[in-house]
Amino acid sequence: MFVFANPVGSGSLWFNNLATADGVPVAYDPQARAFLPMPPFCSNRGVIGCNWIAAQQGQLCRSCVMTALAPDPSTANATRNWADTEAAKRWVLDNLGRWHWFRPEDSGVHPVFHMLAEGPTPVQMGHANGVVTISVAEADPVLRVTRRQALDEPYRTMIGHVRHELAHMLWWRLSPRDDFLNAFRAMFGDERTDYHAALQRHYDNGPPTGWQQRFLTSYASAHPHEDWAESATHVMHLTDIADSFVASGLAAPELPSPRWDPYAETDSERLFHIAMGLAMRVNHINRSMGLSDLYPFVLLPSARAKLIFVHNWLRRGLWNSENLRLL
Ligand SMILES: [Zn+2]
Ligand SMILES: [Zn+2]
Repeated sequence: MFVFANPVGSGSLWFNNLATADGVPVAYDPQARAFLPMPPFCSNRGVIGCNWIAAQQGQLCRSCVMTALAPDPSTANATRNWADTEAAKRWVLDNLGRWHWFRPEDSGVHPVFHMLAEGPTPVQMGHANGVVTISVAEADPVLRVTRRQALDEPYRTMIGHVRHELAHMLWWRLSPRDDFLNAFRAMFGDERTDYHAALQRHYDNGPPTGWQQRFLTSYASAHPHEDWAESATHVMHLTDIADSFVASGLAAPELPSPRWDPYAETDSERLFHIAMGLAMRVNHINRSMGLSDLYPFVLLPSARAKLIFVHNWLRRGLWNSENLRLL
């Protein structure tokens, strides 16, 4: 993620800022990728702290308008959890927009979000035909850590959830292309095998022995769809770690130049080599505060090959297709 210029003074603005350090209200223009000091602000600004601009006063921003279902505000903490979830969604949408996905120039199907609070029964997150369902309850740190530990996962965040479900949607967007589908099946296996039975088997029996040699996460071993989604999530994680590292003005020996743009990098092998190097440096920094690692994963060759495959499709998936309007 970029770090942004302050339009009314000195200093920087960070992606989630609603105001400058001096208290001047600002809003983010996702098309220009810049902060502006004047309305029209998103009409959700006062409700969930959305800091994006709207086309006109009283309208929702480009991100909020994608949310067709918001959580029932009478559920405890629902609005606070929704606000955190929408912030994660804006971040991921801006990331994917660097490859033109879901921006105005992308004339394909854009996502519709169902942001649901939880009652006694957990909400099943998922993607179906362009609709992404997210449980906003997981914005609650206690609930999220409880589930992370129960599932024996090293990492669980709202940004991770949004990336994972949008990864399924990106597969669905690419899947009408024969060249994509044939290459996908050669790399990940046949996704037409029974999905629900595969997931049930995963939850009943756990991952296969030695899954670490072939998959990035144990969940990725459940089914080719999940292997794609986990791989695409990690492409987004690593590209954004590298981009945020550069934007913050940090230096490291593996960086090609201080102006290197990870989202424009065409050499996938190089991108992941650099990003892993940067992630390990930040892991070390996090340990200085007793925090968990920024990127608690090891990238073995088979998982790396899948990331390279996914990166190539996410980076240029809209090019050479009728889905991209001429800019
Ligand atoms: Zn908004
Ligand atoms: Zn999934």
